[in-house]
This record gives sequence, C-alpha cells and structure tokens, in this order.
Amino acid sequence: MGFGLIRGGLRIGKKEVYMVKDGWVYCPICNNKTRTKIRPDTVAKRFPVFCPVCKNESIMDIEKGKAEPTK
Ligand SMILES: [Zn+2]
Repeated sequence: MGFGLIRGGLRIGKKEVYMVKDGWVYCPICNNKTRTKIRPDTVAKRFPVFCPVCKNESIMDIEKGKAEPTK
C-alpha cells in the first residue's frame, strides 16, 4: 500500500460529513465510529480521539458540531 491515509471527511452522496455523524466522532484514519460523542455546542482544541477499531489516536479540533483533524 503506497498511498497512506484517506483524507477528508466521510462522503455520503455529495455531502461531506466532517468526522461527526449523529454526534459521534468518526475516525479520520479508518472512518469507523469512535466512542467519543460531542454536542453541537462542544468546543475543544487539539482533543485526542481514540479509535477502538484501528487503535490510533487522532488529534481533533471540535467546534460547531464538527471535528477536524489537526496536524
Ligand atoms: Zn480508526
């Protein structure tokens, strides 16, 4: 596998869902649901989200019901 990680959000049709669906944060690496839940008014900077599926920890910025991975 020469091409690393999938970038961007989950794509459902033409709409991009930025790592959050129904309040659950999704893993930016394997796109599976994590056990982290956020509220629409949750704000967090550089928040570590652990993925129980691929066992990676992703650092996310969470704001306005969206979670975006930070570098
Ligand atoms: Zn994962």
